[in-house]
Amino acid sequence: MAELSPMMQQYFKIKEENKDSILFFRLGDFYEMFFDDAKLASKELELTLTGRDCGQEERAPMCGVPFHSAESYIARLVEKGYKVAICEQTEDPKATKGLVKRDIIRVITPGTVMESSMLDESENNYICSLYADKRYTGVVFCDISTGQLFVSRFKSDHSFSQLKDQITSYNPKELLISGKLAQNKVLHLFIKEKLPNAAVSHPDESRCGLLECTALLEQQFSKENMDKIADSNELIIALGVLMSYLKDTQKTGLERIDTIELYAEDQYMKLDFNTRRNLELTRTMIAKEKKHSLLWVLDKTKTAMGKRLMKFWVEHPLMNITTILKRQNAVEELVNDTVNRLELTANLTGIFDIERLMTKIVYGSANARELRSLCQALTNLPALKATLEPFKSKLLHELYRDIDPLDDMRALIDEAIVEDPPFSVREGGLIKEGYSSPLDELKHDMNDSTSLLARIEAEQKEQTGIPKLKVGYNRVFGYYIEVTNSYKNLVPEHYIRKQTLTNCERYITPELKEIESRILGAKERSVAIEYELFNDVREQIALNLDRIERTAKAIAALDVLVSLANVAADNRYTRPDVTQNSVIRLKDSRHPVVEALLSDAMFVPNDVLLDNIDNRIAIITGPNMAGKSTYMRQVALIVLMAQMGSFVPASYAEIGLVDAIFTRVGASDDLASGQSTFMVEMNEVANIVSHATSKSLLILDEIGRGTSTYDGMSIARAVLEFVADKKKLGARALFATHYHELTVMEELLDGVKNYNIAVKKRGDEITFLRRIVPGGADESYGVEVAKLAGLPDSIIERAKEILAELNSSAPQEHIQHEAPAQEDSMQLSLMPDTDSMILKKLRAVDVNTLTPIEAMNLLYELKGMA
Ligand code: ADP
Repeated sequence: MAELSPMMQQYFKIKEENKDSILFFRLGDFYEMFFDDAKLASKELELTLTGRDCGQEERAPMCGVPFHSAESYIARLVEKGYKVAICEQTEDPKATKGLVKRDIIRVITPGTVMESSMLDESENNYICSLYADKRYTGVVFCDISTGQLFVSRFKSDHSFSQLKDQITSYNPKELLISGKLAQNKVLHLFIKEKLPNAAVSHPDESRCGLLECTALLEQQFSKENMDKIADSNELIIALGVLMSYLKDTQKTGLERIDTIELYAEDQYMKLDFNTRRNLELTRTMIAKEKKHSLLWVLDKTKTAMGKRLMKFWVEHPLMNITTILKRQNAVEELVNDTVNRLELTANLTGIFDIERLMTKIVYGSANARELRSLCQALTNLPALKATLEPFKSKLLHELYRDIDPLDDMRALIDEAIVEDPPFSVREGGLIKEGYSSPLDELKHDMNDSTSLLARIEAEQKEQTGIPKLKVGYNRVFGYYIEVTNSYKNLVPEHYIRKQTLTNCERYITPELKEIESRILGAKERSVAIEYELFNDVREQIALNLDRIERTAKAIAALDVLVSLANVAADNRYTRPDVTQNSVIRLKDSRHPVVEALLSDAMFVPNDVLLDNIDNRIAIITGPNMAGKSTYMRQVALIVLMAQMGSFVPASYAEIGLVDAIFTRVGASDDLASGQSTFMVEMNEVANIVSHATSKSLLILDEIGRGTSTYDGMSIARAVLEFVADKKKLGARALFATHYHELTVMEELLDGVKNYNIAVKKRGDEITFLRRIVPGGADESYGVEVAKLAGLPDSIIERAKEILAELNSSAPQEHIQHEAPAQEDSMQLSLMPDTDSMILKKLRAVDVNTLTPIEAMNLLYELKGMA
């Protein structure tokens, strides 16, 4: 250490305290990184790695970024899950001799980002804190960019099923895991797999003291808020740990986080990770994009606040009928009043993200441009409020009440801040003329001095007779008089020479210096006054946080309701009748996304009936591509939309409340996790049967398909029996299967009904009618579908022959999927080798379960062999 240069010693001291962060060390106009940080950052940010003398033999690896563009580099590191500690010079280098003091001003971590440039405006950015004791687990989610704080607790269980659902539903960017959970491998594996970019840390045991946490929280929250968590030690600790982490990293007050929202897990419909993914609620399964998801159809919001809330509503359908009805009433009223609905849509357009702007204002980091954005955001409010006035439904009326036109705030900004202020708040040019008379006077003085200089120039020209005399300014000498060499001999004696250039000399005079100090003093003072006035305006706005926050929340909710109403009106959705009983009855229902993708009126609507008596389970058979999974998903999506308060794509809908939707569908993208498709499938089924209740809705698509036919069929049947049995589960379920043998279950089990998706066959051409009809399918039409997929005629013909052959012999000898028959028939062994191999291959294929893609792949393989 002793050999290190003083600056490097300082660096190491600061680095020691911030081991888990990349240290951005301010050196002049750059942030520099050293040693391992430099190696890592140069790789991640594609920066050139250089070296710097540090007093030791070897140069320290170093790389750096200019301070003015640091934000984008920090954003890239944070997005990858790194933490970045910002170390600034905390004293003016010009005014200091020797080493400048430096200190960490903030640690930016994935879960504590506040800068809108680093955030996705359509998503909340949560940090999560977990603490569990033997009985309960406390869970906290906080978005510090909006000040939202959600807390909940539930019984600790070994499989962490509730905890996992919670974590995936909020999708936090960062997790603090303390207490005994910190060591838990199962939980960590889950987080690594589902949230690969999230930063995870384990706060010190010393942070988890109940007394310390309580004391810390009491400083932050009102008694009313503290009462919400008073009887839950694990919540006090989980929240206490989070607040102390935020204090450490943010180094500011945390005034924005002032309300604890306690939620109960059963307040929302349960949707586990697989279901969210399979139903493509907010992004699609393969492309992982919002495009073509349910959110894509429903989200026509106009503001960032509305976008975030819409996503939350889609992912958190409600269980409380009163709240659902309240939302429905609002949507209905908006649907029925087209003129005002469109007017509201127009009023909402262009309202900036007040929620996130307020965070910057409260923490004092908003600049004058951002105040101007707020002002702009507020200009629509009076019109918005007026348009909302005539609406009668309870929710819209509450929103009307909550929206404050904030005229005073808008007037304040408008009167104080110039229209197009500079980025920096410390260089003046922010405050409008007329806002402060002392400032105006100062500026007037400055202008006066400028004209004074012009006068001096004229006077001096006249007195000295030097026509080319000029008064100028530079930062080193201040104001000076410049005379070109050819007039040097005319310079009067009282001029003091300051600088000699090649073709001129520069002088000062006592009079000039006096004016200079007046001008410069005035400028400095006016910049300082402007900064003070600006701060004052910002503080006045921050003091109104409650009103502005309430308004922002109301705008978000209104935006979502108007969006749902616009979508309902544009797509002919109807208001569902949501009830406490268990009937799900739909007439002419459609899949909201598939319908949106098909051109007009192409989508064939279908009816649905599920209840708790005779129609508990619908077994759906039909060929590949007939529309089975579309049908099943559309039922799930309609139930979900109904419980979020939306209208639904059907001509009539009755929805008996569902406490959870579980789905089991193709697991193709789980292959990467190293488990076989069959294992993944069975895991999922195990999860469903152990967590579903009689009020749940199950979507089971081709259970048992990843193994041999008889194994698969046996498993499928056993699952079906379990789900149907009221003593065991008795849930409502849609069950698509290729095993036509299962259709006998209709006669054997109570509550099971057969359906199939109608197909028209003419010769060997089939047409999908997309209509669901009672009864099981008679054929699976695998060969016909393969033909539709483009398999050449010769293969199709041969497949038909083989199929006929198989059908006429004992099926168990041939359909065995895993162990294809070894001994070929005499007829086949006479064929040329490759042909016989192709045939062997074909024979091993279970055509019934072949998807079009698999058929295509098979075809390529066969072609390759030929
Ligand atoms: P399956 O699950 O039976 O193999 P899918 O549900 O995947 O079939 O449907 C295949 C395709 O058929 C879908 O991508 C969709 O474009 C179309 N489709 C499904 N249902 C309908 C419908 N009711 N109306 C129009 N097209 C439909």
